[in-house]
Amino acid sequence: MTRMLIIGPPGAGKGTQAVRISEKLGVPAISTGDIFRANIKGRTALGQEAKSYIDAGDLVPDSVTNRMVRDRLAETDTADGFLLDGYPRNAAQVEELDAILAELDQELDAVLKLTADRDELVQRLLGRAQKEGRTDDTEDVIRHRLDVYDAETAAVVDLYDRRGIVREVDGLGSVEDVTARILAALS
Ligand code: ADP
Repeated sequence: MTRMLIIGPPGAGKGTQAVRISEKLGVPAISTGDIFRANIKGRTALGQEAKSYIDAGDLVPDSVTNRMVRDRLAETDTADGFLLDGYPRNAAQVEELDAILAELDQELDAVLKLTADRDELVQRLLGRAQKEGRTDDTEDVIRHRLDVYDAETAAVVDLYDRRGIVREVDGLGSVEDVTARILAALS
């Protein structure tokens, strides 16, 4: 398993697990949310384009996000694999990723679906808000991000499910336990 996605609602722990799994497997973790936040911090044009959407909990327009992912996957460190976190997030992005990978003569090996119930998600995100101060971690925006997930991103899982590459992992429990579950699901 070298070319993977991790997908799940906001607060499921994707980012934390993506970093741990990428270290264990020796492939880069690529988080679209982290790339956006780094660009906002660095005051780049991309960051300025993305900021208002992110602060509202909406998806950044596909034209912006797709180009960013295409450029990132063209870098040489992804030649032997990658773990994408936060992309694709809607059906159009699935199509775009298919096209990007076809051009690179690559295929996805697995889609990790991380689950957690909604109350747990809201609690975790509110907790994170106090620690990290992310501008999109207010209660209203959190609820909106969860709605966007249900409306757009849940369909992404269905698309990959039809290809038979989804592996579902329970995101409840300690960080270490969840990592162990993911590694077991991948082996
Ligand atoms: P979370 O999964 O906790 O919501 P992320 O860091 O993955 O956090 O994403 C934060 C925000 O970045 C999203 O709400 C969205 O505005 C933007 N974003 C990240 N990935 C994408 C994407 N693939 N398409 C559009 N917007 C994205």
